[in-house]
Amino acid sequence: MTGDEEEAEFVADSVAEQTYTVCHHCGGIGEAPLSVLAVLGGVGRSATANRDCRLCSGDGRLAGMVPPV
Ligand SMILES: [Zn+2]
Repeated sequence: MTGDEEEAEFVADSVAEQTYTVCHHCGGIGEAPLSVLAVLGGVGRSATANRDCRLCSGDGRLAGMVPPV
């Protein structure tokens, strides 16, 4: 490996560490809504609970450049 290739690899690694993508699934919030059944005031209805995002595990960001596929 030449010096130029090593430098290019070092720069690519540094950019990958500093670059992130806002999570496509949760919009950067880190949580995603989950519809659940609930009984509120004696009446059954649907309600919304939040759970950690499956894609980013609650961070709200993904490492590097991640296209929304
Ligand atoms: Zn997310």
